[in-house]
Amino acid sequence: MKFDLPPAMHMRPGTHPGAAAHHSASSSLRHPVNHIPTAGQPKQMPMMDYKAEDVHHSPFLVFYETTRACDLVCQHCRACAQSQAHPNQMSTQTSKAMIDELAKFPKPPLLVMTGGDPLKRHDIYELIRHGKSKGLRIAMTPSATPLVTAKAIGDLRDAGVSRMAISLDGADAKTHDAFRGIDGIFERSLRIIKDTHEAGLPMQINTTITKRNLHQVDAIAELINRPGVVLWSVFFLVPVGRGLREQGIEPAQYEQVFERLWHHAQTKNYGVKTTEAHHYRRFVLQQKGDPQANPTALAGKPKVQRAPIGISDGKGVMFISHVGDMYPSGFLPINCGHFPDKSPIDVYQNDMTFKDLRNPDQFSGKCGVCEFRKVCGGSRARAYALTRDPLASEPHCVYLPKAWSAGK
Ligand code: SF4
Ligand code: SF4
Repeated sequence: MKFDLPPAMHMRPGTHPGAAAHHSASSSLRHPVNHIPTAGQPKQMPMMDYKAEDVHHSPFLVFYETTRACDLVCQHCRACAQSQAHPNQMSTQTSKAMIDELAKFPKPPLLVMTGGDPLKRHDIYELIRHGKSKGLRIAMTPSATPLVTAKAIGDLRDAGVSRMAISLDGADAKTHDAFRGIDGIFERSLRIIKDTHEAGLPMQINTTITKRNLHQVDAIAELINRPGVVLWSVFFLVPVGRGLREQGIEPAQYEQVFERLWHHAQTKNYGVKTTEAHHYRRFVLQQKGDPQANPTALAGKPKVQRAPIGISDGKGVMFISHVGDMYPSGFLPINCGHFPDKSPIDVYQNDMTFKDLRNPDQFSGKCGVCEFRKVCGGSRARAYALTRDPLASEPHCVYLPKAWSAGK
C-alpha cells in the first residue's frame, strides 16, 4: 500500500522492486561528501523542522515495506503482493537493526510502515514500539482487511503509530471493489476511516487515478471530506508491478485533474498532495497558489504535517524492501544497495543514483531546463518506467518551459 505524508501511504500501491533493474550502488569511498552533518546518536526531530536543504543528508520519508504478504489482490499493486511472506523477508532482529540505522540520520525520517499488509507481520507491534523508542515518528498503511479492527487500530496507536493511511480508489463500492479485487472492501474502508478517527489518529486517504476512476475525482473528493481525514494523496499510475495492467490517463488529462484537485484543496477540510505527478506543484504555482497550503477550512488550527515542497524519488524519499533492498522510491526499481551489507545512511547520502536524482540540473529534455525543475522535476519513476532513464524528462507533462520554447 502507499503513504505520502500526509499521505500516504497505503502508501502507494507498490512497485515490485525485486523485479527492478539492478544498479550498482556507489559508496562513500567513491563519493565523499564533506558538507553532510555527521550521523550521531538517535534523536527525536520534529518533522516540521525539516528544511528543503536537508534532502542532501536525510530523507523526510522512509517507506519500509515490512512484508509482501497481503490478503487482497489489487489490480494495480506495486508490490505484486502475495498471500504468504517471502522466505527472505527481513527478520525481527534485522528489521530492528535497520530501524536503528534510520534513527541515526542527521534528521531522522518519518518511518512509513507499508507493504503488502504490515498487519500480516506477527512482530509489527514490536517493530513499531522499537521505532518509537528510537525517537522515530511512525505512520502505517494497512490493507483494508478484517485484520484492521477498532482494537487493532487502538493497539497501533498505543504502540506508537501517529498517522494511518488507507486507499479509496472509487466513490462507490462497485468502482473501488473492482480495483481491489474483492467485494466489501469499500464499506470496510469507510469503517476503518471512522474507527481511526474515533481512536484519535489522523487519516490520510490514498487514491490512484486511472482511466477507471477519472470521472469520479470530484465524487471521491466529496466522499472523503469527513472527520479525521487530514490529507488526500492522489497517486498517478506508474506502470510497475501489477500496475502494468492498468491504464493510466493521458498527459492532457493530468491538467484537468490538477484543476479539480486545486479546487478541492481550497474548499475541503483536508490538504491535497500528488504522488508521482509533481507537476501539480507547477500547476498550483501557475495559479499563484501555494502547493503546501493548509486547508482554508482549518485556518487557525494546527498545521497538517506536510513534506517540504520539492521532495521526490531519492530526494527526501527512500524505500526499503521486505528483503532489505534499498531504492529511491517504491516506484523506481533501481536497487542501490542491500541492508545489512550497506547502511541506509550511506546509500541515501552517497549512492550516485540518489545524488543524481537530487540534482535537477542533470535532468534531460524539458525538465532539465524548466523553471519549475527545483520544485517539480517530474516523476523520476515514470521517466524510468517509460524510457529506462531516471533522469529523462517527465513523459506526462504538457508544459513547455520558457527556455525550451526559446530553443535553449
Ligand atoms: S494487494 Fe495488498 S499490498 Fe497490494 S495494493 Fe492491494 S492492499 Fe496494497
Ligand atoms: S517540464 Fe518537467 S519540471 Fe517542468 S513542470 Fe513539467 S514535469 Fe515539472
